[in-house]
Order: sequence, then structure tokens, then C-alpha cells
Amino acid sequence: MKADVLRLLRENAKGMTAEQIATVLGVSVAAVKTVIRQLVAEGYDIDKEDGAGYRLISYPEVITAAEIMSRVRTQWAGKKVYYRNETESTNEDARELAEEGMEHGALVVAKHQTGGKGRRGRSWECENGNSVAMSLLLHPEFSPEKAPMLTLLMALSVAEVLEKLTEADIKIKWPNDILINRKKVCGILTEMRAEEGTIDHVVVGVGINVNQNGMPEEIAGFATSLLMEMGQRYGRADIMVAIMEYFEGYYDDFLEHLDLSAVVDAYDSYLINRGAQVKVLDPQGEYTGTAQGINDYGELIVQKDDGTFARVSSGEVSVRGIYGYV
Ligand code: ATP
Repeated sequence: MKADVLRLLRENAKGMTAEQIATVLGVSVAAVKTVIRQLVAEGYDIDKEDGAGYRLISYPEVITAAEIMSRVRTQWAGKKVYYRNETESTNEDARELAEEGMEHGALVVAKHQTGGKGRRGRSWECENGNSVAMSLLLHPEFSPEKAPMLTLLMALSVAEVLEKLTEADIKIKWPNDILINRKKVCGILTEMRAEEGTIDHVVVGVGINVNQNGMPEEIAGFATSLLMEMGQRYGRADIMVAIMEYFEGYYDDFLEHLDLSAVVDAYDSYLINRGAQVKVLDPQGEYTGTAQGINDYGELIVQKDDGTFARVSSGEVSVRGIYGYV
């Protein structure tokens, strides 16, 4: 109900009385007043004028369930939000929620994530209150081999949102890293549970460095935050809400063809490795070549130095620049 009250206040800039809010929501006036008091205690500046009622003047930079749910304008992505003050991993939380039967599009967000994961058991750093750490739960009806493409759809969504927000140089390092000014600002980890060729659920986790002043030493050479690059702070909820909207659109389009044919050009336009020399760290054997772009299935096409072409699928493989991270 808190989200509903907030949404009404956002939609009615001229103000709404407690009676009006109560009527729209079908709850008691007392309940509305209680929620308004809670919102004020949480840092929302809500003005009360005789006649016009309550007006939302400003809101705090928070990522609570009510804040996100009152702002998201999607059909299903992020409509239901689970907020954690501190958690080990939002991907794990989303997996647990899936086991409890939680619906497609449920979103777990955390103010602080202490045990964030990368691919192949690597760790993901999160700074309390300054990062985006979120995981979207999906219940796809397509076959499991299609799931890795969701990582690319999320990467494209994040890239477009960050570009719109910052107007800076935003790129994707295939398949799942987003870069700003050639440094890593976001990682994506997609995990799936499937049995006998059927997906039970997919969790797409997104970590973004937003308002950190500096990076931990181990990653400082190639990682950065929006604040460090742009010299200004950004609202984490703004970013989360926008990503939900972009991703929902891409996902629903994806269901039509079950491939990436509709977004290959858009994805490739962000690809930092495109036309560049890359080193493919394949557990079967490393090789170098020139990255050409992705195909309709999200594989990276690399022309090897011997002239032959390789299709690199995500999962086990990392791609690096010849001289470093990109
Ligand atoms: P690559 O393909 O480049 O090897 P990846 O995309 O698979 O990497 P992930 O496994 O998704 O990378 O992310 C984990 C890695 O990201 C860590 O090993 C670390 O190097 C780096 N990393 C960890 N935390 C952060 C962060 N907050 N910002 C940027 N990079 C980070």
C-alpha cells in the first residue's frame, strides 16, 4: 500500500487529500495517514496544505520496494520488489524466491551485497548504499539453450540506460560487461535452473558501480563508477526503474523470434571489441583473432589469425583485448 500511496502522490503533483487517496485505494483514511507518517519518517518531504491535501515535494535517494514499485511503469518487470538492507547475493535471494513460487518479473534489490558473484565463481564488489545490486526473476517457457541470450538483452538494456543517463562513451564488452570510458562499470550474471529440457527459472543479476568514490585496489586498474567518471551522483532507483522498462521491452520482443536477430545491430553498435584484436580465453585453448560482432544467437564471431572463423559462446569463455582488459 505504501507504493500505491507514493504512486498517487507522484501522479498528482497538485496534491491529494487523505480522503481522496483512501477512496482510490479502497482503504481507511487512518491507514493512509499512517503511511504518510511513515514516508515522512523515511525522508520523503510531503507538504500538507489545507484543501489541496498532501503534495510530494522531494524524495530521498532510496531503493526500497515502495520507491521502485511506485515508479516503475512496466507490465511485469519489477512490478513486485523485494528489498534487502544487506544480503549475501541478490541472485541467491531470487533463486530462493523462485523456489517459494514467486512470479515472473519479481525483482530483488539490495542496499548492500556482501557476497556478490561473477562468472565461474569469481566475486563481485558492492559498496554499501552506492551500488546497484539487483536480480530479476524470470520464468521463461523457451528451452534452456536460449537462456544465455538473456544476458545480452540485459547488457543492451543497461548500456542504453547508462548512455541516455550520462551521454558518455558507453560500450559492451561481450557478453556481459558494460564499460564507461573503457572501464568496467557493470557486470551481469545470469543463472538458470532447468530440468529435462525445461526451464524452471532464470535469474538475471546486475551489479552497477554508481556512486562510489574509488574502487578497491584489486580492480582499480579496469573498474570505475558513474560518479568517478561523471563527477556527479546518480539515483540508483532511476537506473533500476529504467532498466526494468528497457529489459521488459526487449524480452517481450525476444519471445517473438527466440533469437537476437532484432537487436544484433543495436548490440554490435555498443561492442567495444568489434573490429578489434581479441584474445579468447577458451579453456580448450587460447587463441587470438579479430572480433566481428555477434550472430543471431549472441555468439561472438571471431576471425582467427589463420583466417578461419570461430563462434564463441558465452558461459566458459572470456574475451580480452590483446594488451589488457579491452
Ligand atoms: P571477463 O569476461 O572479463 O573475464 P566477466 O564478465 O566474466 O569477466 P564477471 O565474472 O562477470 O566478469 O565479474 C567478476 C569479475 O569482475 C571479478 O573477477 C573482478 O575482476 C571484476 N569485478 C568485481 N567487482 C567489480 C566491480 N564492482 N566493478 C567492476 N568489476 C568488478
